Amino acid sequence: MTALGDPARYQFVPGPSAGPLVVGGEGCYLFTAEGRRILDAGGGAIVANIGHGRREVADRVHAAMAQGAYVVPIWPTPHRLSLLDRLVERWLPDGFTQVFFTSGGSESTDAAIRLARAYQYSVGRPSRWKVVGRHPSYHGMTLGTIAAASHSGRRAGFEPMLLDFPKVPWDDPEAVVRVIEQEDPDTIAGFIVEPITGASGGCLVASDEYWATVSQVCREHDIVLIADEVMTGFGRTGRTWGHEHFPLEPDVVLGGKGLGGGYVPIGMVATRPDIASPIAAMGGFMFFTFSGSDAMCAGADAVLEILEREQLVERSAEMGERLVQRLHTALGDHPHVAEIRGRGLFVGVQLVRDRDTGEQFPTETRFAARVVAEGLARDVWYYPAGSGPVHDAVMFGCPFVVTDTELDRMVEVLVASIDAAVAG
Ligand code: PLP
Repeated sequence: MTALGDPARYQFVPGPSAGPLVVGGEGCYLFTAEGRRILDAGGGAIVANIGHGRREVADRVHAAMAQGAYVVPIWPTPHRLSLLDRLVERWLPDGFTQVFFTSGGSESTDAAIRLARAYQYSVGRPSRWKVVGRHPSYHGMTLGTIAAASHSGRRAGFEPMLLDFPKVPWDDPEAVVRVIEQEDPDTIAGFIVEPITGASGGCLVASDEYWATVSQVCREHDIVLIADEVMTGFGRTGRTWGHEHFPLEPDVVLGGKGLGGGYVPIGMVATRPDIASPIAAMGGFMFFTFSGSDAMCAGADAVLEILEREQLVERSAEMGERLVQRLHTALGDHPHVAEIRGRGLFVGVQLVRDRDTGEQFPTETRFAARVVAEGLARDVWYYPAGSGPVHDAVMFGCPFVVTDTELDRMVEVLVASIDAAVAG
């Protein structure tokens, strides 16, 4: 390898410090150029479901690329077909046979917003254009997905450019009914939800009553219910899909992150023929140039095969329980921990200034970011979260292959990092 450049030059927008220069990884570890081994409790950005360094995935991607053809997304290829068959036969909810590939989470959520609108338009309801979102929520960084979501930090400054989509609170069934009526169902095309709220809320889990109401209201008014499973999909929560934990019945399911496992940039939008067929009859659904890129499909197919072969979804459930037990033991009574929550290996720890009163740290102190920096100084990476009602949380989204010893270390370092951030 030629001499490496200056890592500080990498950032598009210069920041206070350069990140570690990562040159490889294996299992739950990232290796840096200086020889550090960073324990990846966040799975990067909750992505690395099968763990790092799987040669098998790289080989499959290489073989697909070596075939040497770019194929326009409207034509099938063996890798596209293989991934599609695997998804429909083994991963998607019953009846979900139509899949649109994308290059990641934001493209998937943006395409789903377009899909909801296209469906309503194609069945003769052109007045329906709004997509209801939740507060807080995060669905990506295209202008459409920022508009549908409610992540204060990531919306800031863009407001004049965003469509005025309605929002409902993350766990208030009565407000859902009220807002839909106030907005007029005849203007609403879709309703987008994270089954467990990710980066904006640090794994907020809403009540069954809330999800039953959302599903019922959408069914009643023929509103397309979209489950954004970009973080929660492909086993992250200990079940195939996050929505399976709740009485939540989506019409559209989105995936990203875990589908490619961090190896390939790929996402998907999946639905039933009753949603897709009217759109097809009206003229189809425009693709992205790299929708279902052949090598990306080969990589995702290999990732899913590994999850199946090694029964890693079940492992996510089991190791997630062990993680939560350890967190309760170590932090259950901690004065700055308000709640430990989540499902499977998708777990958030909410941090507050005063656990008894619920008082939060002021947003500008960026407490969660400081805890994450303390963790990284101790060679453990956690994913920071928070917006709106949740100022500060850190998230665990480690590879499903995590061991008990690694869990012990993740928890031990988190305690030290919280204490150091408080003292600092
Ligand atoms: N939707 C959810 C729920 C997410 O958590 C994210 C990313 O964190 C996205 C969409 C956007 O995905 P991407 O960053 O791959 O564009």
